Amino acid sequence: MAYTKAVLNRARERLADENRKKHAEYESHLAAAYALRPRLREIDRSLRRISAQAAMACFMTGGESARTIEQLKQESLRLQDERQWILDEAELADDYLDDTPVCTVCGGTGYVGTEMCECLHELCRQEQKRALSPLLSTGRERFENFNLDYYPDRYYPAIGTTARALMQKNLNVCRRFAHDFKPGAKSLLFSGATGLGKTFLSGCIARQVADNGHSVVYTSASQLFADYEAVRFDRAEPESVRKYELCDLLIIDDLGTEMTTQLTISSLYEIINNRLLAQKTTLISTNLDAADLEARYKGQIASRLLGCYQLVYFIGDDIRQKIK
Ligand SMILES: [Zn+2]
Repeated sequence: MAYTKAVLNRARERLADENRKKHAEYESHLAAAYALRPRLREIDRSLRRISAQAAMACFMTGGESARTIEQLKQESLRLQDERQWILDEAELADDYLDDTPVCTVCGGTGYVGTEMCECLHELCRQEQKRALSPLLSTGRERFENFNLDYYPDRYYPAIGTTARALMQKNLNVCRRFAHDFKPGAKSLLFSGATGLGKTFLSGCIARQVADNGHSVVYTSASQLFADYEAVRFDRAEPESVRKYELCDLLIIDDLGTEMTTQLTISSLYEIINNRLLAQKTTLISTNLDAADLEARYKGQIASRLLGCYQLVYFIGDDIRQKIK
């Protein structure tokens, strides 16, 4: 799992915030209880003194140590009984004065040993979805909301089937991809004209893969190249593009709409090649077809895209016109 630094930091901040809130709540309960029954404060002080004395008693010699510890234990039990009696009598809930952490598994640290605890994982998943909001803007980006009726049931000789049948197949490919996703899964290349549902299906995939706990980063091609350019010309730290290299699934939207320069070509090659070498999965969508890709990106880029990615062609009429 490689959440981006920004996602991880925000999730950690939220966990720290929850810890602070929980502790503040405990302190306010404690102050209220002490105000209501001042004897509780004395008991708590005594209990703290007893535990310090018990720790000291461990260093005493022979029988004296055991005797002292036994005495302290009895005193402690008596005070705990009294404390409980006062709480009952004041009708305070049993857990009213518990100083429990937000998560009892990790104690609110977010980690169990070196493993991330589920509580921090969940916050990362939420923060990641927030970062994916441009792609998940309608909230409807789920496979079950993908409507095949928008695709014509007419025969396209070029593909030897109808657009609807092809899109049914694409939908199955995307569902399977999202459902079975593991870092290193084969990359996808969505190719087809605007308005055929490429971004919608990218959103469906992003949502499910992120829900399953993988890190997903979404960017438009032009933003991606702008970020690399900023690093190249020292306007940004190299750290700012690390997310594109480290995430489990990188989604690049609208490849081919950017202005092609030496820099965009070399950045694109670097991203595609490095991610393939690192066995990281990428989903690219483009309005270009195979011939356009070859013409525009030539050689190594086109051969990697066309050779190593699973091609998913989109065919039909512009859905956005139909919805209007
Ligand atoms: Zn936890």
